[in-house]
Amino acid sequence: MIKPRNCEVILNYDCNARCKFCYHPDSALTQVEKRMPLAQAAASLYKGRKEKCWVAYLIGGEITMREDLPKIVRLARSMGYPYVQVMTNGLKLADPAYARKLVNAGANIFRISVHGPDAKTHDNLVGVPGAFKKVMKAFENLTSLGAEISINHALCKYNYKKLKALLEIISGRFGIEDFNVIFPHYNGMMAERASELKVSVTQAVPYVREALAYLKDSRAVIEDSLLVNFSPCNLPEAVHLMAEWERPSVPKADEPLFHIDGREARIHGLKESLCLKNKTCRDCVYNSRCMGFEKWYADIFGAKEFKPVKKEVPPFPLVPSHNRLKQAQALFRKDRAGDAGAGLAKPSRKARLAKRRA
Ligand code: SF4
Repeated sequence: MIKPRNCEVILNYDCNARCKFCYHPDSALTQVEKRMPLAQAAASLYKGRKEKCWVAYLIGGEITMREDLPKIVRLARSMGYPYVQVMTNGLKLADPAYARKLVNAGANIFRISVHGPDAKTHDNLVGVPGAFKKVMKAFENLTSLGAEISINHALCKYNYKKLKALLEIISGRFGIEDFNVIFPHYNGMMAERASELKVSVTQAVPYVREALAYLKDSRAVIEDSLLVNFSPCNLPEAVHLMAEWERPSVPKADEPLFHIDGREARIHGLKESLCLKNKTCRDCVYNSRCMGFEKWYADIFGAKEFKPVKKEVPPFPLVPSHNRLKQAQALFRKDRAGDAGAGLAKPSRKARLAKRRA
């Protein structure tokens, strides 16, 4: 199955929230002066589009802190990206005028962070009173504008037992089909606060199973994989619902990631460079495909939880719909040469100028 390729671009580190589990250090969150220059953002996006990426995935920090975000979204669309995905904490999208501005600029997927099913949990974790209310308002605004919503949810001690309750809201109430339940990176503030926030895979897995059972029983539609930063041995029946555990089948399929200073990396290459494996992994049926588990996790919890899977087990009966993927494939088929990259739009004059200045 052909999947749309992402071009991830880190636009800035500064942020208007103070998430306790952030994988950046606190000092990064005020670095307004270190934002990626507009010309560099244009050059990175252009490079990704030339590599046949379909999704311009704009990430931070909190990218809505940049006044020029609508301009960057427009630039990406002018280069021919059919999808521009905005990763955000959702705070500024509570303002209907701002949400409309981004949608009108061409943003069509909003990946919003929600870290608990209630104001007390979410507001405490993101360090902003009233944040949960604003996120719910952002959902309403974006839904009324016809934009697609995806969710990021990072597991920690304060929320891991509430995963099912959260899904009852995002899937049950808002009908959101695309969400990532993320096992956090124990880096930055998350590492500094590990003694307060940490939760092991073994502690979290029963609640992840409870949440999966809820999705199955409620006949929820899920777009794609929903467990991020898990290894197959953590939940062998849900390997088909995991993302980012497997090496790309061919290295050149790995997707580009542009750091704030313009350095280019590869998503899976970067992830694998952060991973370890046990000697016993060689006895695991997933060994040749699995990238392992994060060093940062092992520094805190050790590596004993990662035990070889001797035999694959039947998959949990929850099947991704790939509705969004099917839409993307329809775009793919429309492309004149049957290759999304062949449809690379000539960048606008503004994009060409920005690229030249980069
Ligand atoms: S290879 Fe190792 S880390 Fe990966 S699933 Fe198997 S035991 Fe777990």
